[in-house]
Amino acid sequence: MTLYLDANATEPLRPAARAAMLAAMDTLGNPSSIHASGRAARKLLEAARETVAAHCHARPADIIFCAGATEANALAIHALGRDRPILIGATEHESIRPTGAEILPVRPDGTLAAATLDAALARYPGALVCLMAANNETGVLHDIETAAKSCAIHGALLHVDAVQAVGRCPRDWLAMGAASFSLSGHKFGGPMGAGALVVSQGIEIEALVKGGGQEQGRRGGTPPLPAIAGLAAALGEPYESDKILSCRDDIEAFCIGLGAVIPGAGAARLPNTVCLILPGIRAETQLIALDMAGIAVSAGSACSSGKLAASPVLAAMGFGTLSGQAIRVSLPWNVSRGAVEQFTMAYAAMVKRALRSPAHSA
Ligand code: PMP
Repeated sequence: MTLYLDANATEPLRPAARAAMLAAMDTLGNPSSIHASGRAARKLLEAARETVAAHCHARPADIIFCAGATEANALAIHALGRDRPILIGATEHESIRPTGAEILPVRPDGTLAAATLDAALARYPGALVCLMAANNETGVLHDIETAAKSCAIHGALLHVDAVQAVGRCPRDWLAMGAASFSLSGHKFGGPMGAGALVVSQGIEIEALVKGGGQEQGRRGGTPPLPAIAGLAAALGEPYESDKILSCRDDIEAFCIGLGAVIPGAGAARLPNTVCLILPGIRAETQLIALDMAGIAVSAGSACSSGKLAASPVLAAMGFGTLSGQAIRVSLPWNVSRGAVEQFTMAYAAMVKRALRSPAHSA
């Protein structure tokens, strides 16, 4: 059986999410229909909205369900960035890369210096700033509170890609001053196919996907009710942060002992994520060796050819050629101590073999 350590790509489904989805699949009706079946479906949809709103410290009316975070981010950029210059952190996800955006360099630990943002906002007051709460490759957390304060001073709006933080280290981003944030169900144990843009009270959103007026005219299309019900159910599930962090810390300490370098080690990070650079050994070589040992991790970004490209996130942090020599281990919500043992043994064997084989060197 595969040892799955790629939770940042997608988390295993929570049993509560599965149960909620099955119940929703047995609910016949389109939430927009006015007959009794439609009303039953609408009731489910609004119950899910209330659950999500409660977790997000938002009003139900401020939750816009959509297909996932790629769409939620696109909606935020479309609606909030319309007449504004757009500033983005250098380590943002591919779904936050609008053409013409000004890219804000990060420090070697992956965080954004307040002075960098302030200087950019002085040049572009009234901008839309997009900053992720937690990086998907390194787990590095941005200081959203400070960024939100700077945005407020300069009349700018802040959109937070909170995809990797929701469910793992949630914060009240709206209270901090963010105009909106995005979340994706499959990143916290819900199913793929549902996400949301959560907006601050009073923020107007013009639809990107127009249609039948669903989501108060802000997102057309019949909402994927089973996926939304699963998303809401997963959000309420407990997350054993301390256990997960201690597994991650043990993996880190072991791998550092074998020569691994940890990007962002000094910064505040997600409890479940560790990026491991193994100097001199290509990411692809590491991935294949671990895959053959039955362990699923990831590296960089897979490009259309199916080959691995060096990680732009690590390149932005100044890791140069080392950016192509990193893997990401992201522990799922149900990780066990046995996983730590299995991974560290496979990692040690991989290091030993790779170092013996010059052909595999970068
Ligand atoms: N932002 C971040 C930080 C992500 O990690 C991802 C998923 N890899 C996305 C956005 C896109 O999410 P989705 O899969 O829901 O489109």
